Amino acid sequence: MHPMVLRAAFLPGKIRNASGNGGGVLIGYMLGIPDLGDPTDRKTKETIAFSRFKMKIYQRVLSVIFSSLKSKSWNGEPIECYDNQIRLFHPGFLIESMDGKEDAYFNACRAALANYPCTKCLVHKDDLHRLTAEFVMRTGAAMQSVVCRARNAATKGEKEEILKKHGLHDVDHFLWGFRFSDSHTASAYDVLHKDDVGKNGHHFWPLVLEVLETISGKGTFAKNMRKFARWPGLKHFNQVTTIHFSDGETFYHIMKKVSDEYGKNFNFPKQHATSHVIQDIRTKGTTNHFSTRPGEGFQQEAREAYNQTNFKDVVPQMTRIDENQESIARIRMAIDEYEKQRTLDEKEEDNIEESSNHSAITSASWRFGAPERITNSRAFTDILKALGHSIGDFDTMLRDFIAEPSLVNVSHMNSTFKFGRSSARI
Ligand SMILES: [Zn+2]
Repeated sequence: MHPMVLRAAFLPGKIRNASGNGGGVLIGYMLGIPDLGDPTDRKTKETIAFSRFKMKIYQRVLSVIFSSLKSKSWNGEPIECYDNQIRLFHPGFLIESMDGKEDAYFNACRAALANYPCTKCLVHKDDLHRLTAEFVMRTGAAMQSVVCRARNAATKGEKEEILKKHGLHDVDHFLWGFRFSDSHTASAYDVLHKDDVGKNGHHFWPLVLEVLETISGKGTFAKNMRKFARWPGLKHFNQVTTIHFSDGETFYHIMKKVSDEYGKNFNFPKQHATSHVIQDIRTKGTTNHFSTRPGEGFQQEAREAYNQTNFKDVVPQMTRIDENQESIARIRMAIDEYEKQRTLDEKEEDNIEESSNHSAITSASWRFGAPERITNSRAFTDILKALGHSIGDFDTMLRDFIAEPSLVNVSHMNSTFKFGRSSARI
């Protein structure tokens, strides 16, 4: 089972990518489809048929999960916000963070060994090394029309040829017909699987080991890596050349220190993916905002939740555990915020006390020196009273003014701030 986690793109990255409240929300587990046969016994045709079968199931599951959002993506849904204003929200998929295989299944594209293996463009497998070349970009609408054309083909062979030329399967994508959502555009460059595990772990690191082997340099290299200064955030390696398989994090740390290349063939999909990273950064932000790293952390949580079950009919139990954790996080956050605000209020009260003692001495409407420190409305009421102004309860009046819904707009907010600033100069 693969956890499916939603993150709200409108939230600041610090909140969205964290594991606490406001971060990822588990919406379900995608089932793993067991392969009851032996993949090595299958012919190409059967392999394609099995992949299409799996894809159809995945797309069906996704269409059920997100069916309630489809009409809302067009019509919007009114939601009352924190400031009591009702706004119309249009849900859409802006970013998808997945590893290569998941990405292919999510986009209903043929996998890495296909003639057209990229889920974002129509690059041929022989051109994967051409990073600066431009290829036709995929869009949901264009791919839908290709599938329609294939279905209307005169023969089965012709149909298969059309699909093959576009690296597609004969599958309806659940996002077709969604507004503000294009699965190919949303598909994002994931540094964990593309760089760290992918290029570094599977391609460059084995090459480095191979080259070191030919020059009998493994021992010296390991010794030098061992001598590498310990640094916060950088793993230390005592026997680096004995590492053949590890997690992406480990390869990331190794490749920070190794950069040589020796006749490496760069014709592979993960290398080609680099050509899309600039566009991804322009449309989605820096790569940390679409990395699968936060999601990998969620896997750990899911594993812990699984271990708390009795291992029978685990999904309802894991969902319950997740709900409890969300509630605990919410209560914890409320308590922390309360404590933080209370400390701030106490500090402010102390400052105001000092400030109002000082202001009470000044009876003139002007004085030499720096402007007085910013004060709050309660203390300001006291200052006005001390100066003989009969304005009433200024603090309550100001709060009522701000809370009045019809007055909460930019022009009034500006006038409020202006009033506050000039007042502080009294
Ligand atoms: Zn591409």
